[in-house]
Amino acid sequence: DGEPSEQWEEYQGAPTGADLECEGWRQEAALRMLNNNLDPEVAEKPEELVVYGGTGRAARSWDAYDAILSELRSLADDETLLVQSGKPVGRFRTHERAPRVLIANSNLVGNWDNWDHFHELEAEGKIMYGQMTAGSWAYIGTQGIIQGTFETLAELARQHYDGDLTGKTVVTAGLGGMGGAQPLAVTMNQGVCIAAEVDEERIDRRIDTGYCMEKADDIEDAIDRAEDAREAGEPYSVGVHVNAAELLETMLEQGYVPDVVTDQTSAHDALEGYYPDGYTVEEADELRADDPDAYLEASLDTMERHVDAILELQERGAIAFEYGNNIRGQVQDHRGMDDAFDFPGFVPAYIRPQFCRGKGPFRWAALSGDPADIHRTDEAVLELFPEKDHLRRWIDLAQEQVQFQGLPSRVCWLGYATDSEEHTERARFALRINELVAEGEISAPIVVTRDHLDAGSVASPNRETEAMKDGTDAVADWPILNALVNCAGGADIVSVHDGGGVGIGNSLHTNNHVVLDGTDLAAEKAAAVFTTDPGMGVIRHADAGYEEALDEAAHSNVRIPMYDE
Ligand code: NAD
Repeated sequence: DGEPSEQWEEYQGAPTGADLECEGWRQEAALRMLNNNLDPEVAEKPEELVVYGGTGRAARSWDAYDAILSELRSLADDETLLVQSGKPVGRFRTHERAPRVLIANSNLVGNWDNWDHFHELEAEGKIMYGQMTAGSWAYIGTQGIIQGTFETLAELARQHYDGDLTGKTVVTAGLGGMGGAQPLAVTMNQGVCIAAEVDEERIDRRIDTGYCMEKADDIEDAIDRAEDAREAGEPYSVGVHVNAAELLETMLEQGYVPDVVTDQTSAHDALEGYYPDGYTVEEADELRADDPDAYLEASLDTMERHVDAILELQERGAIAFEYGNNIRGQVQDHRGMDDAFDFPGFVPAYIRPQFCRGKGPFRWAALSGDPADIHRTDEAVLELFPEKDHLRRWIDLAQEQVQFQGLPSRVCWLGYATDSEEHTERARFALRINELVAEGEISAPIVVTRDHLDAGSVASPNRETEAMKDGTDAVADWPILNALVNCAGGADIVSVHDGGGVGIGNSLHTNNHVVLDGTDLAAEKAAAVFTTDPGMGVIRHADAGYEEALDEAAHSNVRIPMYDE
């Protein structure tokens, strides 16, 4: 990719304040969010344009990054910029209500939709891995996933324990951009976490930013410290500099069985995300550069041991689940492990009932850069939904324990639920924020976006749509309809990606942004998009026959043609 762009060196994050570089706030929001994705405080390897999740990039090359910025600066209020796999490729006059930026990343035609073909094209500079929020400029750092991880573990605790994780130990691995949220999400649920990570700097980074408490000297030390905390019933987290497979195998040898075992290494990408055992990070990076085939074999060998150990721990009584990195799919496809799917994915196990009601990780960032603006939005969400005790608990915890990274941002799970009001939960919130911007109570526009992992925006048979009730796990019409209807609703940025989370060929998913600048136009867009977007979650799951979705549709008047009451 060459040397980093001089512009990026100068920005070092999103520009803030009320002065615009672009012709309008919608274009400005795109420029700020792109730079926020590449803020050294937010991204994992910004000097390589890598934001998170293995090689998830924000732009295809530094030239493409510079070109995107220059297009955004001159883009008129009635124009739309097209970005194909991280490179600006066209610009058309559309109309003011249309999106300002449309993005398609990493998409390949079915029969060619695999890592081999992708890597050939990537090496020639013709395609880019967009992950989920990397290539769609919606990543906000580890703070973006923390509530999802917290909710997943809270649901696990509700299903298996007394509602929290007091006196329970969760063993996991991967302290990267997303996985780094795990230790804090465990301690927020009062539990104890041991996390393996091969890259010591990542452990240090999570400790520096308050996501992990301590670093152990070795496996023995990690277990001792964790056991002390568990016996005392204290929340505690510790990172240990070791390969995940080695950690779990050592635990098995010692007869140590944690309460919960999961994993968030970047196993979706065996070549550039997952590290084989027996090598330091530097040695493994050299092997990858010198002999990628040997790296792949070694990486898959370790993954096989890793999954074997998870299955054995499950056999011995641990609760095991896959945390959305496709490690089961990898060893099933490449090592013929027939029992890999004997432990469930986190969506069917803990999250799907929320998706049925259109609930998902809704997030917003303050374009001013002023934390006070996010604190005002925190108040607004609690004023709007005073009956939601869980939401209050989340906002209190986030204010106490989650540090801002880059633009001040907040995540919370809101859904459809009109509750006899005119608008959905998400739309009510967005419309209120738009009013606060108009009234000057919030100092600059707020941009609202979300994870691609949402109620009605993903087809991913090993993750979000694993084990659908009607067997439609691989039907990808739904995310495409999601992107189309959000364009029709007037979202300001809309993106469609392949492969995020679970790797090329394994998923299709979409995202959108709406800029709340206090205008009537923003209110119209917000009312439409924050109805269509969670609404897709309700209709997708109703179509698959989920009772919760049918119930939500009935209560919230979601029209589903051909559904006979
Ligand atoms: P990342 O690439 O930023 O971090 C992965 C980390 O795993 C790195 O720090 C790496 O050093 C470490 N690692 C790799 N192999 C290892 C091994 N064998 N043992 C120990 N450590 C190892 O990725 P991320 O953004 O944290 O995402 C992690 C995975 O989780 C990805 O597959 C991603 O797609 C998936 N994911 C899940 C969710 C979710 O909600 N469940 C959300 C986003 C991403």
